[in-house]
Amino acid sequence: MSRKSIQRDAILQVIKNTTSHPGVDWIYDEVRKEIPNISLGTVYRNLRLLAQAGEIRELDIPGSAKRFDGDTSNHRHLICEKCGRIFDLYEAVDPKIEARIFQKTGFKVKRQYLKLIGLCSDCQKQEEQLKTYIYDNSLIKGGEK
Ligand code: ZN
Ligand code: MN
Repeated sequence: MSRKSIQRDAILQVIKNTTSHPGVDWIYDEVRKEIPNISLGTVYRNLRLLAQAGEIRELDIPGSAKRFDGDTSNHRHLICEKCGRIFDLYEAVDPKIEARIFQKTGFKVKRQYLKLIGLCSDCQKQEEQLKTYIYDNSLIKGGEK
């Protein structure tokens, strides 16, 4: 293998071996464990090439830096707006919507690269705890007429 393909392969493996949808900085840190002298520019260039070749997916996340996905299968993303974690959803959001879109517009949907922004269950639990905490603190006795 040439040096270039060794570099590209190392980057690809780092992305394929995680489900965390990492950003460039994380990928760079991981790849340097294998190839300590690799430059950030080389990592950027290879990420672009891998995405163009369809070996990885580039994810544009609203209000955040680009993230990368080693899973190129047809799936959707649930993005937690609080902790920033990205979860995979291997389920069509509504299979009927594709038929409806086709009926209304004549457009044939082949893949859904949908992003759903919300709160993950951990963050919801935290919010619930927070609410309970505030609520308990507001049980102030006295002050009755
Ligand atoms: Zn979360
Ligand atoms: Mn994914």
